Amino acid sequence: MAYQDNNRFQRQMFDITSLGITCAECGAAITQLPFEPTKKEDGTYGKLYCYECNKKRMRDRGPRRDFGGRSSY
Ligand SMILES: [Zn+2]
Repeated sequence: MAYQDNNRFQRQMFDITSLGITCAECGAAITQLPFEPTKKEDGTYGKLYCYECNKKRMRDRGPRRDFGGRSSY
């Protein structure tokens, strides 16, 4: 799952208001996503971020790879 800039694609937004998903970063309700979220085996959608937080993360994406959670056993 790469976070590339798909500027060639049309910016189709999926309305996910009914899913009641909140941003994993700031806790704001996410009403739209540029992709359709898929449910995982545990019944959650994983970590999703609102537009602002996504933008922030895209900007300072660097050596830190904390996507997908930490490995705490
Ligand atoms: Zn957010």
